[in-house]
Amino acid sequence: MGLALVYWYDRVSPGTSIGLHNPTHTYIPLRLLKSLGGIFIAPFFNGAMKLLGPAYLRFSPPNLKFKKTLAQQGLFILNFSLPAGRACPGADKCWAMAATDENGKVELKKGVDNEYVCYAARGEVAYSNTRRARANNKAIIDGLSVSEIVDLTLLSLEANYKSLLKKANLMRWHVSGDFYCPKWRDAVFILTQELSQLTHYAYTKNLPLFLDIKKPSNFRLTVSWGGRFDSMINEKDFPRQAKVVADHDEAERLKLPVDVNDQLAFGPIEQPFALINH
Ligand code: SF4
Repeated sequence: MGLALVYWYDRVSPGTSIGLHNPTHTYIPLRLLKSLGGIFIAPFFNGAMKLLGPAYLRFSPPNLKFKKTLAQQGLFILNFSLPAGRACPGADKCWAMAATDENGKVELKKGVDNEYVCYAARGEVAYSNTRRARANNKAIIDGLSVSEIVDLTLLSLEANYKSLLKKANLMRWHVSGDFYCPKWRDAVFILTQELSQLTHYAYTKNLPLFLDIKKPSNFRLTVSWGGRFDSMINEKDFPRQAKVVADHDEAERLKLPVDVNDQLAFGPIEQPFALINH
């Protein structure tokens, strides 16, 4: 059982005073942190704040390959993830998840229509920390309202990822997982405005959540083929589309440029592109 210490968060000038200064997003109630079992250290000193325990949302830096190629262009991606499969209601040909059997063994469970490997699910089978961090993120989001999600996300970033956030110019929502409910989509849309210094981008197979929805100007959405809602994909509603192909020859046959490091997913041009299945 966790311990919740004093909690007040001043979004306007963190650490300089104790109080509530932002009328749009209020605060995470103490009861919430208690129910999440979190330990929270209040920001009594400038920059000395830290969230501990399960009650904060986990982010991660870019993988090494991306880090190297994008760093040359001065780009740095901050990533957020949810559990593969469990948070992917639109997935079909890729659907897989890390499942724990009655003996506690973690194995890859694939969907009946699975055609290609979900690397995110594989990663969760191999790395328990990754699996736990993603499960933790979803469990927290499930229990919060939109404004509470927004508040806790900003608080988590401010408290535990300040230096990464400072470096970042891109936010990728879901290296693993997807927009699994309207509440989460709405929270991310608000976060794109709260974190307006970043270009936000995401892939989705959950197309119904984005049909006829106005997206924030700094949010770039790619719809991926191979999901349950492929029939909804068209160039007018979803101009940025990703198709998994076997190799460069197939991409060439389809006249699709190949994206190797998310440049076509976060770049300014709305166009279809290919991803090579490794
Ligand atoms: S949508 Fe992505 S994370 Fe979800 S099962 Fe498919 S490949 Fe994995």
